[in-house]
Parts: sequence; structure tokens; C-alpha cells
Amino acid sequence: AGHASYRPMTENRITRETLPLDALRKAPEAHKYDHGHALVLCGGAGRTGAARLAARGALRVGAGLVTLGVPGAAQLEVAMQVTAIMLRRVDDGAGLTTLLEDGRLNALCLGPGLGPDRARALVPAALAAGRATVLDADALTAFSDTPKALFETLHEGCVLTPHMGEFSRLFPDLARRLREEPRSSVLRGAADRAGTTVLLKGRETIIAAPGGAVWIHGGAEGGDTPWLATAGTGDVLAGFIAGLLARGLAPAEAAATGTWLHARSAAEFGPGLVAEDLPETLPRVFRELG
Ligand code: AMP
Ligand code: MG
Repeated sequence: AGHASYRPMTENRITRETLPLDALRKAPEAHKYDHGHALVLCGGAGRTGAARLAARGALRVGAGLVTLGVPGAAQLEVAMQVTAIMLRRVDDGAGLTTLLEDGRLNALCLGPGLGPDRARALVPAALAAGRATVLDADALTAFSDTPKALFETLHEGCVLTPHMGEFSRLFPDLARRLREEPRSSVLRGAADRAGTTVLLKGRETIIAAPGGAVWIHGGAEGGDTPWLATAGTGDVLAGFIAGLLARGLAPAEAAATGTWLHARSAAEFGPGLVAEDLPETLPRVFRELG
């Protein structure tokens, strides 16, 4: 699903007009199986909230189906807290590989609440499956000592969504350069090194794809949304992007569109927002889009 304004070697400001928002409308004859199936990998008992936020985000953004891959010890905890989201037991890399034999699972999200050990076990199996994949949080931090090994296994269908701390652990030299050089050229370097789309979160969010294209999002249209600086909002963003990948958007498109919808939802809800409010506010944003 290419979009005319997504050209290499340009620096695009993300606005409504530059995004493939029309592609998100569902056809009158739509069937849930037309809109992809996102798999969000969940952490262990007592730390399942982040993945549940991501899964809710993927569902709200319009993925046809969303499944949480849950370790056995957390199955009951998660089952008591989700409804439209399905559950499958995933204890280790081999279990994930088996689950991914189902080719309908077309987008993955790993990191929120995953825990470093589970991240190291599941990320290689996820990447070997070659699906569109969001890597966030623990799925990035788990490879702080071995970023090269991670980069060697990444493919073009991935989106990395670090905040500044996660970014500086994966790209320490580039994080230092960010202080004195234009952010877009440094992010280009990160995308080329990782061989995949990299999204650096913050008040200003920058997305770079391998080959040189960069998109910059400087706050929601309509102003700053500092109330996004609260626990769990990044997990929802990872879920939005995974849901958009499941819908068939290309990685950089999904990253840019997810970032815009996330900020629009935050602007729409306003101060006092908690992470849970972001997916629940998204329908108001879609309604405004018409
Ligand atoms: P995380 O650090 O993973 O929890 O993600 C935080 C989310 O909130 C990201 O989407 C950031 O872009 C966003 N965010 C954090 N601080 C601000 C800020 N001051 N203004 C706008 N958005 C922010
Ligand atoms: Mg985070």
C-alpha cells in the first residue's frame, strides 16, 4: 500500500494530508478476515498490562483480529481482563514458531511488558517468521549488549519504536550525535544500520526508513500534548502500529499513521489522559475524519 508522498530522500512533516487514512475505511461488504490478524506477545504474570494496552490499540485501530500470546503462568490473569482479544499460549521460541505456522497472523508486536528473558527467547523466532513486526521496549533493551546481532536478524518489515533511552542503548554513538547534528540525518543513519524503519519517540517523533526517507511529527495538529508523557502510552503506540501493519500498511506508513492517530487521540482527550484512554478515544478521531 504505497502512498504518493512517501518518496525516498525527502523529509516529510506528518500531516493528515500525507497519510493513507482513506485506506483505513472499511468497505461496506467488509469481513473481519479482510483486515489482518495481529499477534501481541505478552509478558509473565503480574506484568501483562503493557501488552494488553498494545493489543487494545491494535484492535481499536482496526485490525480484524487480535491475539495475545501469553505464557502459561499468566493465562488466567490475562483471560480475566480481555474480551474481544483472543489468547494463545506461547511459552518459548519453539511455541511461537509453531503458532506462526498460521500465515493469517500477519503482524506481530513484541516488547511491552515482555521482560528481557522472554524477549531474548521470542524475538529471534518472531523475526525468523518474516512477518511485519513492531519491536518496542524490552524487545529492544534485551539487545543492548548485542545490537549488531539484533540488526543482522531484522528485515524490512520491522518497525523499531524506541524512546530516547532505548535508542541510546541500541545506537550509543548516534545518540551522542543527536546532540549536535540534525535529528533527521542521525535517524537516517539508524535506519540504514538497522536495515529497517526506526521511530524515535518524544515530544517530536522522527521516523526514518532505510534508503533515506524521513518523517517528522511535531506534536498533534492543534498543539502540544505533554500529557502523553505518562505510563503505557508508548505501549498503545506500538499496538496502533502493529494493527496498521495488520491492516496492510507498509512499515513507514504504519509508523507515521500510528504516530498521528496517537497524538490526535491525545489531543482529543486532553489533560488527565491515562494510557487506556488512547484506544478508547480513537473512534472519535476516526469519526471526525469522516
Ligand atoms: P514511552 O516512552 O514508550 O512510554 O512512550 C511515550 C509516548 O508518549 C510516545 O508516543 C511519545 O512520543 C509520547 N510523549 C512523551 N513525552 C511527550 C511530550 N512531552 N509531548 C508529546 N508526546 C510525548
Ligand atoms: Mg515504552
